[in-house]
Amino acid sequence: MSDPMNVLAPEHRRLRIGDAWRDAASGATFAVEDPATGKTIAEVADADVVDGLAALDMASKAMAEWAATPPRKRSELLTATYRALTERSEEVARLITLEMGKPLAEARGEVAYGAEFFRWFAEEAVRVEGRYSTAPAGGYRILTVPKPVGPCVFVTPWNFPLAMGARKIAPALAAGCTTITKPAAQTPLTMLFLARIMEEVGVPPGVVNVVTTKRAGKVVSALLADSRTRKLSFTGSTEVGRVLLRQAADNVLRTSMELGGNAALIVCADADLDVALDGAMVAKMRNIGESCIAANRIYVEEPVREEFTARFAERMGALSVGHGLDDGVDVGALIDEASVAKIDELVADAVDRGARVLVGGERPDGPGHFYPPTVLVDVPEDARMLEAEIFGPVAPIISFTSDDEVLAKANDTEHGLVGYIFTRDLQRALRFTEGLDTGMLGINRGLISDPSAPFGGVKQSGIGREGSHEGILEYLDLTYAAIDLP
Ligand code: NAP
Repeated sequence: MSDPMNVLAPEHRRLRIGDAWRDAASGATFAVEDPATGKTIAEVADADVVDGLAALDMASKAMAEWAATPPRKRSELLTATYRALTERSEEVARLITLEMGKPLAEARGEVAYGAEFFRWFAEEAVRVEGRYSTAPAGGYRILTVPKPVGPCVFVTPWNFPLAMGARKIAPALAAGCTTITKPAAQTPLTMLFLARIMEEVGVPPGVVNVVTTKRAGKVVSALLADSRTRKLSFTGSTEVGRVLLRQAADNVLRTSMELGGNAALIVCADADLDVALDGAMVAKMRNIGESCIAANRIYVEEPVREEFTARFAERMGALSVGHGLDDGVDVGALIDEASVAKIDELVADAVDRGARVLVGGERPDGPGHFYPPTVLVDVPEDARMLEAEIFGPVAPIISFTSDDEVLAKANDTEHGLVGYIFTRDLQRALRFTEGLDTGMLGINRGLISDPSAPFGGVKQSGIGREGSHEGILEYLDLTYAAIDLP
């Protein structure tokens, strides 16, 4: 197979600002690495504040015309993006794997998922509606007019280099907003490729701008401080989310925050264990565990603990680790050395406090940022991994004996993104649905992400929803007009 980098020509490894692909004003660049080898795969432009503001100039200038573009036309451009991504799926997937590390099969899944946001919001673009009603006391009418919020700033993480941008850009464009995306410095190539595809299908200049930078703090804060920016949508850690919320407050920006998670996956004694095992494997291992909705804590009811644990450990131990582009690999490289070191520390901490390693638990030597699938049992309450986001292929298993006990433990976290429950008892499932403080829940399912469903968290996991009909509302303001009519 050819080099995955061939799909992104050197002239497109630069900033996408208005109708130009250009270097940073300073000429600075930074290196992007293949996390499986540690080797540099490309150099991209390293934007500074002046470049970020140039992108905002373009997004602001394009705003009125894009907002006035007929919804059907905007919809068709989103459909064209969906088609182009689907037709070029293999190229995009290989680029994702190269810069992010996930196995190719999972990268293909991300392309299908990411592309689907364009199809979904192409369909939503022509369904934006206001209301007309009679004031309850009579005498006048109430008209509501939805309007695009204005130029949006997007900050995205490295774990889904395409999908996390797609689920912001697609609804924003559907609503009539223009955008500036700052992708994670570790995975900027996929977003540049998306911008190139959107240029090719005819999205007008200035509507999709991409600013790659190693100076995220400086560049993003300048964008948020500029009164032309009207919306911030951020996906990333809760820690950085808090910083950006404070900055957004000065300009009273609309914000959407997709932040960290600490999902509990609960296996009840009455569950179909085959279903629970499949669900736990997906919820833990999708994206190498580097997912905000990854199962971070696995609670198993005492009567099935032994059987579930033995079968789960066997499946985890059978996974093959390697370069994501190689055939037959289930578990690719983690994003960087810091990530491997953090996971190693969390495992050591749990073991120090009394946990036992059933599978994995030892980082390998050699190049690349690998960590083996790992299962821990007898994990004590105070182990740090039960509170921290593991963000890797490590599964702590904890037993429970009552629903009240496990609910209290599951909710004992600042996060509230998702939970998973495996049971054949409908009433029990509903009690967990009502009792778990999360924005989302998988019931007898480990895979919940779907562009047609509202994705998002409560508590410190975030504000707002992405996907579904709710996703486009995040990009619309409402003007209410009172019309005198005695
Ligand atoms: P991160 O460190 O918060 O970084 C996310 C993005 O923010 C990157 O583009 C990063 O740029 C940028 N950034 C960092 N510091 C910044 C600052 N001071 N000002 C402006 N931008 C800044 O998170 P990550 O490690 O990339 O991603 C993992 C986290 O994302 C996890 O916590 C995960 O749970 C969360 N996540 C949540 C969802 C969800 O939908 N809820 C989905 C996926 C991931 P640089 O790359 O240059 O540092």
